[in-house]
Amino acid sequence: MNRYSNRLIELNLSGIGLWLGLLLVVAAAGSLGLGWLLNWIAALLLLVVLGPVVAVLGLIWWAKRKLVEAPCPVCGFGMTGFEGMDCNCLQCGEPLAVRDRQFQRRTPPGTVDVAVVEVSPGGTNQLSSGLGDRGS
Ligand SMILES: [Zn+2]
Repeated sequence: MNRYSNRLIELNLSGIGLWLGLLLVVAAAGSLGLGWLLNWIAALLLLVVLGPVVAVLGLIWWAKRKLVEAPCPVCGFGMTGFEGMDCNCLQCGEPLAVRDRQFQRRTPPGTVDVAVVEVSPGGTNQLSSGLGDRGS
């Protein structure tokens, strides 16, 4: 236990020595008329530190604007995508496109999407449910 605390004190002292040395170099350079070099180095360090922070904040802002969470129009499966992106539904495989913050079906050109209407001889038209009920 005592050994480890001695090591911690050594590490702290070496850190202080580094900062003291850096301060000494800065003071010496300033007295020699190299203030412009120090300013340039400080600006570079500020850019190195703040650059990634600004980049991450910009990426978050961009993702919040472009990210779309909406259900698949065919099966209702909740999906996430980027605005303007083409993808397939993970659940049903339907080709989809993200437009106006919603997922829309990407039908091939020339395809007419219609609802099937069954005409019965009795004269009443009704939408077929798709399965069963063919003979009347
Ligand atoms: Zn789907």
